[in-house]
Amino acid sequence: MPQVAPYRVRTFGDPVLRRRAEEVSEIDGRLAQLAEAMLVTMREARGVGLAAPQVGVSKRLFVYDINDTGPRALVNPVIVEAEGEWEHEEGCLSVPGLWFNLTRAKRVLVRGYDLDGREVSYEGEDMEAKLYQHEVDHLDGHLLLERLSPQQRKEAMRELRRRAEQGEPASQASRAGGG
Ligand code: ZN
Repeated sequence: MPQVAPYRVRTFGDPVLRRRAEEVSEIDGRLAQLAEAMLVTMREARGVGLAAPQVGVSKRLFVYDINDTGPRALVNPVIVEAEGEWEHEEGCLSVPGLWFNLTRAKRVLVRGYDLDGREVSYEGEDMEAKLYQHEVDHLDGHLLLERLSPQQRKEAMRELRRRAEQGEPASQASRAGGG
């Protein structure tokens, strides 16, 4: 197998992160290659999930590796059920190094297609449910910053401005997690 090169992870301010990604119309070898390169990128950044817009590709696809089922890719995912509430720390590879307490649905059912074009649905709780919501948000052009309370958001924007002014490189998250 040839080594798959990782992508650069797009960060806050990149317009591709604000765009609603397009439905995937064909699940083929090229899409599988993209998913493979996204997994490599995700692992290198020590993330648990990565959506295609985060590598500059505006398509409805994300990859993740969160439990013992091994890595998965989900194409054209839709959250069809969501219930309960769960508050937990959440990070994003596109907003590196910042973590926020966010409330999400505690349990979700997500439906989509795998890389063989088969329809699949997965039910997730807690971390897994949070991941599905976080990644589908990316496909809709939303960053977790938009889910913050006004106070959290103010602090986050101040920190991001401070970094931009000081010309600090968007360092990768210094801890594992995030999507
Ligand atoms: Zn993210």
